[in-house]
Formats: sequence, C-alpha cells, structure tokens
Amino acid sequence: MTQETGSFAALGLSSPILHAITKAGYEEPSPIQAQAIPIIMAGHDMIGQAQTGTGKTAAFALPILSKIDPQRREPQVLVLAPTRELALQVAEAFETFASQMPSVSVVAVYGGAPMGLQLRALRQGAQVIVATPGRLVDHLSRNGDLLSSVGYLVLDEADEMLKLGFMDDLELIFQALPAERQSVLFSATLPHSIRAIAEQHLREPQHVKIASKTQTVSRIEQACIMVHADQKANVVLRVLEVEDFDALIAFVRTKQETLDLTSALQARGYKAAALNGDIAQNHREQVIESLKDGRLDIVIATDVAARGLDVPRITHVLNVDMPYDPESYVHRIGRTGRAGREGKALLLVTPRERRMLSVVERVIGQKIDQVQLPDAAAVLQARISKLQADLTPRMQAPNGQHKSLLERLTTTLDCHPEDLALALLGKLTEGMAFDVSGIEREYPVQEVTARPERNRSFERGERVERPERGSRERREHRGSPAMLVDQQNRVRCRTALGTRDGVAARNLLGAILNEGGLARDAIGRIQIRETFSLVELPEEGLERLLGKLKDTRVGGKPLKLRRYRE
Ligand code: AMP
Repeated sequence: MTQETGSFAALGLSSPILHAITKAGYEEPSPIQAQAIPIIMAGHDMIGQAQTGTGKTAAFALPILSKIDPQRREPQVLVLAPTRELALQVAEAFETFASQMPSVSVVAVYGGAPMGLQLRALRQGAQVIVATPGRLVDHLSRNGDLLSSVGYLVLDEADEMLKLGFMDDLELIFQALPAERQSVLFSATLPHSIRAIAEQHLREPQHVKIASKTQTVSRIEQACIMVHADQKANVVLRVLEVEDFDALIAFVRTKQETLDLTSALQARGYKAAALNGDIAQNHREQVIESLKDGRLDIVIATDVAARGLDVPRITHVLNVDMPYDPESYVHRIGRTGRAGREGKALLLVTPRERRMLSVVERVIGQKIDQVQLPDAAAVLQARISKLQADLTPRMQAPNGQHKSLLERLTTTLDCHPEDLALALLGKLTEGMAFDVSGIEREYPVQEVTARPERNRSFERGERVERPERGSRERREHRGSPAMLVDQQNRVRCRTALGTRDGVAARNLLGAILNEGGLARDAIGRIQIRETFSLVELPEEGLERLLGKLKDTRVGGKPLKLRRYRE
C-alpha cells in the first residue's frame, strides 16, 4: 500500500477496498469521508449533510463494501437515488470500489429501461442494488421479498427524492426492508420532512456535516465557468489560450488526472508537469524550482501534493475539479496572489456541482461571478494577438542575415515574398486552426444551459413554471447570448390523473424524468386539475418518449400520457 492511502487505512477499511482506492488514485479522504467512514464502520446509523462534489458517494460506499459478505449472493445493500443519472453514477462508483472483490456485483434499477436485464441481475444474486424509488416499487410488486436480506440502506440526495414526489414509494420500500439494518441518509439540506423520515426510520443516527468557518479571500479575482464533466480538458485548453498567465497551478482530484492533463498540455507545447502524492520528494522540489525559475509554466496538482507550495510567479489558479469543501477552495486559491500580488482563480463547475458552488460562496461570503467559457472567436483572437506579439519585435529590429536569405530564397524558388510569408506562417502555426470553425473542431465544447429554477417553484405549490424571463435577464446581464429556452418547441400532453387521484406536480415530474430519461429542463409547465393534468414536453422525440412512458404508473394508476389537442 502506498503511503498516501495511509490515512484511508487508518479508517479501518478492508484491504480489497484500500487496494481499489489506491487504484482509483485517491490520495487522502475528503473531510466528509474522514468523518463518515468510522461511524459507518462502527455500525451506527448516520445522517450526512453533504452535496455532490464532497466525495459523499465514497463516504458510504467504501465502509459498506468493507462490511458486506461477498460470498453471500443476495441483496445486502440498497442505495436509493432520486434520478437514474445519479443511480448510474453511484452504481459505477460501487463497481470501481469493488474492483478487487470479484464476487460482488452491482445492479442499477431505474425506470425507462427494460425490466428483464434488471430482473436477471437480481436473480443472479447482485449484492448491491442502486435504485430509483419508482422502479424499485415496480420490482417489489412482483417480488415482495426482494429486499428481505438487505442489511444496509442508503438514501442518497434524500431532499431531491422528496422533491420529486417519491415519499409514498419510500414508505413502501421501508415496509419491505428488514427492521434490523444499518441506515445512512445523505441530504444537502435537512428540511422538516427529511428530519421526520430520519426520526421514524433511522436508529439514533449520528450527524455528520462539514463544519465551515467563514473565510476571507482578498486580492484574488474569482470567477467560475459552467462546464460538462466530460469536456473539462477542452475547456482547460481554451482557457489557457485566452488567459494571460505567468505561471499557473491547476487542481484535479486524482493522480491519474494529474498525469492525463499534463500529457494533454505537453502535447500542445505547454511547459507543464504533474505534482501528486506518488512523486518523490526530490522530484517534487525540482518541479517547484522549475516553476519558480520559468522552466515550467504549469503544474497540475492534487490538493495533497500542493500543500505548502509558495511560488510568487503563480498568477492563476485553475480549479479543474471542485474542491471537497470551502476550506480547501480557500487554500487552493491562496497559491496565487502571493507576496501582495494580484491573482486570478477560475473554477470549473459541472451542472451537478452547482450546490457546492453555493456552499463555497456562502463560506467565503462573496459571490463568484459566472463567466462564459471562452468561445472559438476568443481563442482565435488570442492566437492572432500572440502571433503579433511574437512578430512585432522582430519586425522592428530586422536581421540582416534574414534579409539576404529572403532575397536568395525568392530568387531560387522563383516566388514572390508574399508566397514565402504564407509558407512560413503555415510552418509557424502548424496544427493550429486560425478560423472559428477549425477551433470549434479542435476543442469541441458545449455550453451548459442555465438551469430553470424549478425546484423553488414547485416547493411553493403545485404549479411548475419556468422563470424564463428571470433566467434570461440574468444571462444577458452576464454578457452571454440569450439562449432559446423559451423558444424550445414543446407540446402539451394530457393525462387523466389529477388531484382527485392524489397526484401532484412533483409526482408527474419524478415519474417522467426517471421513466422517460429526460433532462429536468426539458419539461415545461405542469398544470394539475381535478380530473386531468397537462404537461409540456419537447416536441422532438415525443412519440418515442410517450412509448417509453406507456406502462408508467403514478400513485399506482396508469399515467397514459397523450398529446393534447385543444
Ligand atoms: P461525489 O461527491 O461522491 O459525487 O464525488 C465527487 C468526485 O470526487 C467523484 O468523481 C469521485 O471519484 C471523486 N472523489 C471522491 N473521493 C475522493 C478522494 N478521496 N480522492 C480523490 N477523488 C475523490
């Protein structure tokens, strides 16, 4: 075992799990992991107040996998997640962490996918079930004993589950679970409804929360960019082209990412090096010295490896991955703005990490401005400016040798100096596009669309409205082009379920999101009446969507959604 997993080892995790952590490249437990793992290992129920980005999945998956009996081929762990996206993500994390436990298998159970495969995996004795509540209830209606061997229950993003109307499903699931079990609940917020669930279904739970003291950050300009998780490398490459930096430190979460990003940057000609916990002390010092004296311009580091790093040349901190907690954000960005200089910190935020961003903002007591990701035109402009900056001094002090070389070449090649200039430009800018569409192809990225603030509206009542004007104004204020949210083609669909059937907007929303596999912002207004309800759905792909929803039930009754013709 490497030295860095030492602090994981101190948490009492099993040896296959420690191996898997080493393989995943984790260097040390995040704060929520350091607190939660010993509690879960000791067999206590627990309430964790944490959002995506804090490392909460590993906080419950690592100790639970350490405790199960891999030889028992029956469900032992149930994780409930609000959406199929999260269920898949959690299932994938369990698979990674169980990579050294060959007899452990994981099944993701979610709506909108055929029941058959899921049933087969269950029959074959998967020990870990990661499920969305609606589809799990369907399985329970076929096999009421499905959960009778479960000893560990996790409710992940419990507040989101309630917002999506899964309360009744949760109750059915609780009834199907053995009373003798260990239960863990994770939630970003703890409203009354969540506390009530905990009181009823958890036994003397211990609370875990990342304590956050207010921190002050001065002299550092901060901004964030919304990005899709799988496009971060391209966003980094664009940012590096448009930012005017002297030296830059980029933070990622794992050793592997330090290596991957470093290679991507070196391939583009950047003087970059990786700094992670595997790098020997003498080499680490070399890297820091090189960064200090300009032999290196970029260091890609994990939090552990960058501790104590003090290089006055650093003008920029680029948070490629979100820090686990606000304190480490403050530590990271403190690597710039040294010795009273100005510094700039950029944070990449994926859609799932928006909440973490709000937590960081709350703790540092200031808003982090959202800026648009650099578009191809900005990259092009930066390339041209750099080229000009390189050429101008040479044109001001022409070299006599070059002048005679030019004459010679134009004579021997029998060409005009302009032809030669073009050929030289081609050589100088080899592999680099100098037009917008070429740059789009070189670093493809998609803008993250602004999230409609739906949650807030449906917490207030049953009508789910999109605050389109508000979000549009906000975007325009930030200088980004207005997006076509309100021009999306949606059509109204009708179901015969209404308030009479005990159906609320959040029930419809939860069912359609999970069974239909739609993104949240694809769904428009939901109107609930006594004997029917109307839902705005995207016109594109509507027939396929309605097909997927054909067997969906809400509150035990068939949804039967149809295109509404007025
Ligand atoms: P989560 O908050 O569970 O969604 O985790 C966010 C991300 O952090 C995931 O990509 C994890 O793989 C990663 N992660 C979690 N714990 C650690 C750790 N101790 N070291 C490095 N990466 C981690």
